[in-house]
Amino acid sequence: MPIATVNPANGETLKTYEAMGAEEIERRLQLAEATFRTYRTTPFAERAKLLHRAAELLDGMQQDIGRVMTTEMGKPVKQARAEAAKCAKAMRWYAEHAESLLADEEPADADVKDSGASRALVRYRPLGPVLAVMPWNFPLWQVVRFAAPALMAGNVGLLKHASNVPQTALFLEDLFHQAGYTEGTFQTLLIGSGAVEEILRDERVKAATLTGSEPAGRSVAATCGDMVKKTVLELGGSDPYVVMPSADIDRAAEIAVTARVQNNGQSCIAAKRFIVHADVYDAFAEKFVRGMQTLKVGDPMDEATDVGPLATEQGRADLEELVDDATRSGARVLCGGERPEGDGWYYRPTVLTDITREMRIHREEAFGPVATLYRVHDLDEAVLLANDSPFGLSSNVWTRDEAEVDRFVRDLEAGAVYVNGMTASHPAFPFGGVKRSGYGRELSGHGIREFCNITTVWHG
Ligand code: NDP
Repeated sequence: MPIATVNPANGETLKTYEAMGAEEIERRLQLAEATFRTYRTTPFAERAKLLHRAAELLDGMQQDIGRVMTTEMGKPVKQARAEAAKCAKAMRWYAEHAESLLADEEPADADVKDSGASRALVRYRPLGPVLAVMPWNFPLWQVVRFAAPALMAGNVGLLKHASNVPQTALFLEDLFHQAGYTEGTFQTLLIGSGAVEEILRDERVKAATLTGSEPAGRSVAATCGDMVKKTVLELGGSDPYVVMPSADIDRAAEIAVTARVQNNGQSCIAAKRFIVHADVYDAFAEKFVRGMQTLKVGDPMDEATDVGPLATEQGRADLEELVDDATRSGARVLCGGERPEGDGWYYRPTVLTDITREMRIHREEAFGPVATLYRVHDLDEAVLLANDSPFGLSSNVWTRDEAEVDRFVRDLEAGAVYVNGMTASHPAFPFGGVKRSGYGRELSGHGIREFCNITTVWHG
C-alpha cells in the first residue's frame, strides 16, 4: 500500500510520501537508543511536565487535527475532535498517575524474612525503544494509548502507523517535539509493513505493540517470538451485545445504534452481534432498525453527519462480501445492505437477521456499519452464542437482574463486560482481549507495566 492520504469521501489522492530508506531508519534507531540512555533516568516529574505540555498543545489543535483525521480516514469530524480531546485526557491521566502506578512494591514482611532478605522490593524499570504498529481507525488515540504510558515509564517510542494516515503520524511526532521531548523520544517511521520485520529483529528495539488485524498481529508476534521480545496485541473483535427481558429496551436500542456505528462502524470494540431474548426481540428489533435507518450518512466534514465513508475502498469491498455471503445463504436484510449512489466509500447502516453458523459474518469481524441480530430463548443460549466467536475483546449486557449479571461476568469470554452501557475505553481501566482478540493489556496500571522490566531487588 502506498503511503498516502486518500480522501475516502471522494477517493481523491491528496498527498503521497516516499517511504524512509535504510539510512534514515538506521539514523532514527540510533537516535532512539541514544535518547533512551538519558531519558530512562529522567524523574517522573519531568516526564509528567512534558506530557502535560503535549496535552495542552493537543487541546489547542483539536480543530486542525480533527480535520486531518477526517480527511485521511473519513470519521465524522465531531468524532475526530472528540478523539483528540480523549487523547489529551489520557495524557493527563498518565502524567498524574504514572509515578504511583510504578512505585516500588514492597513484599510482605513475612515473605521478605522467609526469603532470607533483610530488605526486598520490586522496581519497574523501562525496557528501551518500543515499536508501535498502529491502525488507521483511531489514528490519534491508538497511538496515544501506547505512547502516554510508554513515555511515562521511561521508554522511547517508534511509530509505524498505517500507510493511509501519514499526516496524522507526522502530526504526532511533531506534537511530542513541540511539547519539548528531545527528538529521539518519539519518532514516526514512514515505512510500509514490509519494513517492519527487519526493525523488529534489530537488537535496539526491545518490544512491540500492535493494534490491527489478526494476520498483522500474527506476523509481528512471530518475529518477536523468534527474537524473544515482548509483544502486546490488540486485534479485532466481534463483541456481543446481549439484551435480556428486564432491560430498559428503549435505552438498549438507542445505545445499540451508537455502539454499532461509532467511527463509521470501524471500531474493534464496537458491538457487532446483537443477541436478544425472544420476549423483547420484536420491540428491540423495531427500535434498533428504526434508529439505524434514521442515521445521517454523508460528508464526514459536515457537523450533522453520523456515519461517513469507510476508510478504504478495500474495506468496503470486504464488508460487502461479508453481507453478500450472508444474504446468499439466507440472511434477511432488515435495513441497508447496499452502498448508496455516488462517490466515496460509503455503506448504508445495515441490520441482518436469520444468521447461521455457516455464514462468514457469524465468525468474522464486520468492520463497518453492519449489525447481525440473533434471537435467543434463555440465558444459557445467550451465553453460548455470545461466546461462539473466535474473538473475545469486550462484551455488553443489558439486564436489571443481578443473578444474570453475575452469570455474564462469570462466563463471557471477553476482556471486559459492560453492563447496561456500551464499551468505551477509559485510561483507568485495562483494555484488551482474550482468544483471537490478542493478549496483554493497554491503559491503567496494567498497561503501563507491560513494557517494564519488573525487577526484584533483594538485600542480604
Ligand atoms: P492491518 O492489520 O493490515 O493494519 C494495521 C497496521 O499493521 C498497519 O500499520 C499496517 O501497515 C500494519 N501491518 C499490516 N500487515 C503487517 C505485517 N505483516 N507486518 C507488520 N505490520 C503490518 O489492518 P487493515 O487496515 O488491513 O484492516 C483489516 C482488518 O483488520 C479490518 O477489517 C479489521 O477487521 C481489522 N482491524 C482491527 C483494528 C482494531 O482496532 N483492532 C484496526 C484496524 C483493522 P500498512 O498500513 O502499511 O499495511
